[in-house]
Amino acid sequence: TPERHLDFIRTIVDEDLKSGKHASVATRFPPEPNGYLHIGHAKSICLNFGIAREFGGTCNLRFDDTNPSKEEQEYVDAIQADVQWLGFSWDDRLYFASDYFEKLYEFAELLIKKGLAYVDDQTAEQIRENRGTLTQPGLDSPWRDRHADENLDLFRRMRAGEFPDGSRVLRAKIDMASPNVVMRDPTLYRIRHAHHHRTGDAWCIYPMYDFTHCLSDALEHITHSICTLEFENNRELYDWVIDNLPVPSRPRQYEFARLNLAYVVVSKRRLIQLVTEGHVTGWDDPRMPTLQGLRRRGYTPEAIRLFAQRIGVARAANTVEYEMLEACLREDLNDRAPRAMAVLNPVKLVVENYPEGQEEIFTCPNHPEKTELGERAVPFCRELYIDRDDFRQEPPKGYHRLSPGKEVRLRHAYYVTCTSVETDPATGEVTEIRCAYDPATKGGWSQDGRKVKGTIHWVSARHAAWAEVRLYDRLFTKADPMDVEEGKDFLDNVNRDSLQVLRNVPVEPALTGMKPEQFVQFERVGYFVADRREHGPDRLVFNRSVGLRDSWAK
Ligand code: ATP
Ligand code: MG
Ligand code: MG
Repeated sequence: TPERHLDFIRTIVDEDLKSGKHASVATRFPPEPNGYLHIGHAKSICLNFGIAREFGGTCNLRFDDTNPSKEEQEYVDAIQADVQWLGFSWDDRLYFASDYFEKLYEFAELLIKKGLAYVDDQTAEQIRENRGTLTQPGLDSPWRDRHADENLDLFRRMRAGEFPDGSRVLRAKIDMASPNVVMRDPTLYRIRHAHHHRTGDAWCIYPMYDFTHCLSDALEHITHSICTLEFENNRELYDWVIDNLPVPSRPRQYEFARLNLAYVVVSKRRLIQLVTEGHVTGWDDPRMPTLQGLRRRGYTPEAIRLFAQRIGVARAANTVEYEMLEACLREDLNDRAPRAMAVLNPVKLVVENYPEGQEEIFTCPNHPEKTELGERAVPFCRELYIDRDDFRQEPPKGYHRLSPGKEVRLRHAYYVTCTSVETDPATGEVTEIRCAYDPATKGGWSQDGRKVKGTIHWVSARHAAWAEVRLYDRLFTKADPMDVEEGKDFLDNVNRDSLQVLRNVPVEPALTGMKPEQFVQFERVGYFVADRREHGPDRLVFNRSVGLRDSWAK
């Protein structure tokens, strides 16, 4: 596509292929199955799978499942469904780090035999304390110089389950004075008597990320292991492990900036809190930045992929405006979404000179330009609904919608002129608007060429279908939801008014045929999607995906 240019990672891949360093590129997307994927993961998916696709290589889906206490099969299934939904496939390239447990264990024994790893009996707290700081070197463990035989014996007994959780760990023997704190004898294995969602109770020792990830990459012949910037300091350890073991391939780690989105939290741990503490209805709440939430909100895979392409890939951390994501959805839906009329804030409009009991059906194009989107039947009769916002008793200057004595075009129907208004004497609220139509303006235009500036949408009162419409606002009140005052936490920044439910919205009867997940543009209002879970022929439920213009510019 014309918008595509080579970012720094694609440039590296391109050069590595051209120079013959690699015959083909192999990437992987490595989620931990401890939650649902979010928009940040989409960036990584589009990058890893995208590179494989663009350069004719491969991308593995690998579950990084080495922490038994937080991981579940439910997440494994959901992640696979989400990656597919986003438009990528791994074919038979589905891997689990837990499948390598035996192999990883053998590598660990090898390090011990080479004198490059030792069993440490210090507590986790002692290890942390003795690690030192950025300015101060760490202290050697009293167990650092254990003989390899003793280490091997202890490590085997760790595996056999002889020791309780936390009593011992296996550490790499590198350098307690390294300027890179990650290199100060990092932990490779810990004891966890916990049930693993795939390996069950076969193991009570589990390998750490830094040991597992690089070796998994090497075992899968990954060429470019792309991760986020937080792992920059871990790259030295990544290389150390690879360099000290007889691995079948030599992967390289590259870091890019993670996606941060204004007003959005992208951290599985915090998203879990929003769900478990009831701030949202679930992982797929349309306000959630999870792929499931975005999907239910009406985001399309095409829009999310466009977003990933637009934001690009760089090394410098930054925060992307939410409007950018919304613009991508509008751009995708503009050409594809059929149009229809729905009146979110209805008030009766009576066409006084239209005969009672008469009706007619207009055949309207579903899209102003795309004839391939077809047509629909839109019934018209004497009583209609229009939006309260489209009427003013005392119009401000430049107001082109309906007001006493003024003429407007009813979209696809007729010109009407407002003749009178009824109001509730107690509240002053408009209860009914009356008008006269010009029968010579059928279809919404006039042969005499007279100009009518305003066009408003409407729904026939007698034929209307009734829908529930859900309007969403941002889930957090602060651009940086993590910006919290003393004694508060990010949950205090949750926007309590992020959902508005309209229960009796008249919509065109043609909408009763909509299937869950189909999208539609309510003309002059925004893009909506039929709710994936609750919409059906007997209960119409529409979620606002995005407004027509910047919905947040209030
Ligand atoms: P979280 O903090 O949300 O749990 P994570 O990095 O711990 O994220 P993983 O399941 O380990 O979650 O992530 C899988 C891949 O997705 C990793 O390669 C990770 O770097 C990438 N990733 C996660 N969050 C983002 C983000 N915000 N932007 C870009 N890539 C991300
Ligand atoms: Mg992770
Ligand atoms: Mg995390």
